[in-house]
Amino acid sequence: MNGVEIPVEIPGPVAGQVPLVVAMDGPSGTGKSSVSRRLATRLGARYLDTGAMYRVATLRVLRTGIELTDTAAIGAAVKELPLTIGTDPSHEVIELDGEDVSAEIRGDAVTKAVSAVSAVPEVRELLVALQREITASAQRIVVEGRDIGTVVLPDADAKIYLTASAEARAERRNQQNIREGRGDDYAAVLADVQRRDNLDSTRKVSPLRPAEDAVLVDTSELSMDEVIDELYRVVAQQISTIGGNR
Ligand code: C5P
Repeated sequence: MNGVEIPVEIPGPVAGQVPLVVAMDGPSGTGKSSVSRRLATRLGARYLDTGAMYRVATLRVLRTGIELTDTAAIGAAVKELPLTIGTDPSHEVIELDGEDVSAEIRGDAVTKAVSAVSAVPEVRELLVALQREITASAQRIVVEGRDIGTVVLPDADAKIYLTASAEARAERRNQQNIREGRGDDYAAVLADVQRRDNLDSTRKVSPLRPAEDAVLVDTSELSMDEVIDELYRVVAQQISTIGGNR
């Protein structure tokens, strides 16, 4: 992978030219958010973090004090979700009712509850519609999540599925926790990674799985720069095989 020639140059984002939608899926801890953001910057594209949207919906549910088993109440609570999400890859904006919640949505309480909330069909319906709207209004965009290539944007120009071993993903997340002052507990992080993988891949609505036409990229043994180079190469290849001057 290292040192592989980039076969095609992706044309720059000139107004009215070369729209490009990249669907980026995969489980947590593959480095998906960081690499998606950096890939978007390299492509001159917008960036949408759909996981953040499910996290904001979850925060709303937690603040309303609803039981996580009460799916009808969850559906009702997110019906009018005052969510603001930015798409600038170098500047994160995530607000609930005008309040910056970008830090709170990454905390333990939301992380523990998000799989349950995101399994509620009404929640998915609402957020998927919003994701499609945001994508349609962007010229170029990298959309990151779990079901982007399979459900949200099946016609995306390029589809990538990032994978890594559960251990590699837990190690990365634990290092991130240490850096951000959230403690050092590899065993607990690994258990949480496995628990969420299981919930996300076995749920009835939009289970986590690669789209048939997605390119799988395993990031376990790659540095961030190597992953970005590989993704750029894959996107270039995918848009060249769908042909022409897209
Ligand atoms: O990507 P992130 O870890 O922030 O996502 C949080 C959770 O949101 C995931 O564990 C999953 O339950 C849910 N999610 C989803 N569909 C997406 C993105 C995230 O169900 N497209």
